[in-house]
Amino acid sequence: MRETFPVGPLACNCSILGDEEAHEAIVIDPGDDVSHIHKRLAELGLELKQILITHAHIDHVGGALKLKRLTGAPIFLNENDLPLLKMMPAQAAWLGVHAPETAPPDESLTDGQIVGLARYPMNVMHTPGHTQGSVCLHIAPLKLLIAGDTLFAGSIGRTDLPGGNFDQIIDSIHTRLLPLADETMVLPGHGPMTTMGEERKSNPFLQPK
Ligand SMILES: [Zn+2]
Repeated sequence: MRETFPVGPLACNCSILGDEEAHEAIVIDPGDDVSHIHKRLAELGLELKQILITHAHIDHVGGALKLKRLTGAPIFLNENDLPLLKMMPAQAAWLGVHAPETAPPDESLTDGQIVGLARYPMNVMHTPGHTQGSVCLHIAPLKLLIAGDTLFAGSIGRTDLPGGNFDQIIDSIHTRLLPLADETMVLPGHGPMTTMGEERKSNPFLQPK
């Protein structure tokens, strides 16, 4: 099962991916609303195994430590986003909210690493550009790409914040994401789902140079 719902003031897409036979789950991008996430895990009877963070912006990582304390699950985040994680008070100030408590991740998410559940193995793709530690997660059995803020329906992630680089995000998308098959479903960090085929056809940032 997969359940995706917006969390926090920036409506970050948080997902619970669960194996109901093994009673295991992972959570991706628990940016906020941790009590709701924790309640859903309990209602579904799922034990949380991993907390996966696509990048260290506050709206994606803000609730991770709270969720770890409630469940004991380790936090995974690419090490290139550690400088951003340390900037949490500044990130909170940009939004005018209180800074959530953070801690270094238990493990780095590295390119080519396999994370997730036995039933839903996820291939980590390091796709820098929105931030230096941005990753996408490709779940081949589900034909699903969890894209973080690298790729949106009709757009791409902003690159004007610290650690952002426009040429790099374009390169990441062209070399890593465009090779994925048209029928691959894309779950972005914000907004509606799309497919690689739809984005290949209509996303202005994905057209050949
Ligand atoms: Zn972001």
